[in-house]
Amino acid sequence: MTIHGNLKSLSVEDLALTKRYYESIQPFEVQPSDTYEFDAEFPAEDGERIIAEITLNENAEIEDLYCTCRAGGFCVHLAAMMYNMEERKTVLFLNGLARQNIRV
Ligand SMILES: [Zn+2]
Repeated sequence: MTIHGNLKSLSVEDLALTKRYYESIQPFEVQPSDTYEFDAEFPAEDGERIIAEITLNENAEIEDLYCTCRAGGFCVHLAAMMYNMEERKTVLFLNGLARQNIRV
C-alpha cells in the first residue's frame, strides 16, 4: 500500500489524532532521502527520542515500517510521518527522481 492509501485507510478518529499529534510536534519535517528509506525523530515524554523509519519500494509502496516506541504496527509516529510526507509530496518528488534515473 502507498502512503496515500495508508492515510486513507485510517479512521476519522485516528486521522484526527494524527493531525493533533502532528501539530503538537511542529516544527517537524521528514527529511528528503535519496534512497527509499525515510527517518524521523520524535521527542518522547521521558526526554529520550523516538526514531521512526519508513521504507518504500520502487513503486512508492510501503515495504517496511519501524518505530522505537514499541506500540507495534502502525503507530501515531509513523502516521505523523506519513502525513508530513503526503502533505509535502516527498514521495512524488522521490518518484520523479526515480523516473529520471530510469531515463538516463
Ligand atoms: Zn511509534
